[in-house]
Amino acid sequence: MSKVVVYPGSFDPVTYGHMDIIKRALKIFDRVIVAVAHNAEKNPLFDVTERVGLLKKALKGIRRVEVDDFDILVVDYVKKKNATVVIRGLRMISDFEYEFQMALTNRKLCSSVETIFMMPSESYSYLSSKLIKEAASLGANLKGFVPPFVGKAIKGKLG
Ligand code: ADP
Repeated sequence: MSKVVVYPGSFDPVTYGHMDIIKRALKIFDRVIVAVAHNAEKNPLFDVTERVGLLKKALKGIRRVEVDDFDILVVDYVKKKNATVVIRGLRMISDFEYEFQMALTNRKLCSSVETIFMMPSESYSYLSSKLIKEAASLGANLKGFVPPFVGKAIKGKLG
């Protein structure tokens, strides 16, 4: 039976950190479903269609990855996709409390779904979509943080 994992998140927008986690997950799982949440962030810079589009472009040519969006509970989405595992990225200790809370809540909601965590390469362990957007709004060069076309899309949005 093929091992499928769901990687849910806001991806507003995709960064090299997300891509690092996806590539690591592909070493363990047969298929990775990157699931873009409609409602994860109240005021996203990119709408869900744009976030899916940027992810698809960023992951072009990488086999065994599917990009989708969802607007139901993560555990219900996982069951709908016939998967049992959720993957999340862990950066600094600051991620831990929120991720721990969410993993245990999901376990309470559905005991058959397990959450596993992966750490990105050190060079991405400080990267977040939120910080990148803030830095871009102050004119930062986004090279090394996001693929060039994502940088362009951010700058386009921010004007
Ligand atoms: P969410 O709003 O669900 O946290 P994000 O797009 O911010 O959505 O993150 C999705 C997942 O990817 C989370 O598990 C987050 O910890 C992880 N993640 C985000 N940035 C990085 C990074 N630079 N390295 C590793 N994991 C990351």
